[in-house]
Amino acid sequence: MSVKEKLISIQKEIEVVCNRVKRNPASIQIVAVTKYVSVETTEKALNAGLIHIGENRVEGAVQKWEALHESGIWHFIGSMQTRKVKQIIGKYEYLHSLDRLSLAKEVDKRLEEGQVMKCFVQVNVSGEESKSGLAPEEVIPFIKELSTFQGIQVIGLMTMAPFFDDAELTRPIFRRLKEIKDSVMALQLPYAPCTELSMGMSNDYRVAIEEGATFIRLGSALVGRE
Ligand SMILES: *Cc1c(COP(=O)(O)O)cnc(C)c1O
Repeated sequence: MSVKEKLISIQKEIEVVCNRVKRNPASIQIVAVTKYVSVETTEKALNAGLIHIGENRVEGAVQKWEALHESGIWHFIGSMQTRKVKQIIGKYEYLHSLDRLSLAKEVDKRLEEGQVMKCFVQVNVSGEESKSGLAPEEVIPFIKELSTFQGIQVIGLMTMAPFFDDAELTRPIFRRLKEIKDSVMALQLPYAPCTELSMGMSNDYRVAIEEGATFIRLGSALVGRE
């Protein structure tokens, strides 16, 4: 199947899920995760009508951006080393993996006056050791500390669920992330509207949508692996 065909079938799936839980499919953005594929395949994804492109490593991120930046909106979704931040500043509009103050500080420092980075604070809801992100109870104190950084805008929270054969098992994790998001939203911090939820990948996006995802990050099911 071509990327276009896969996109059409995923869009149908999204519609079915949205009907079930009475959500508007237009409230869900698909981030095409291109980390396993070439620039050529990424271009096909853009030509198929995808706009949001996600990369998790700085090298690939810069390479894809340089080749194709005019046609996409760029999301950095992987863990970010502080010393590499400058390479994506001014290129990547979204950062899904804000997980420490030193990273916020570096992003803020590298941005130009008046520029902002749309950030998701990454939360390790499942507590798996292999996953990065803040523990749930650390999220609010962390976000409060971001008030001094003019360029950091916390648009939402992001998580990665563990892989389960039965995607249903991810539901409590997504539900918890939404609860934490709602508690941040309730603080009404001007720099942290926190209205968005970046959650759901190829195997568990349906459950994530049912639990309120607004950005789903799809790699293998959408653009494949090469
Ligand atoms: C690779 C990756 C994805 C996409 O994974 P698939 O299971 O291939 O859809 C989503 N989010 C992050 C952070 C990733 O690293």
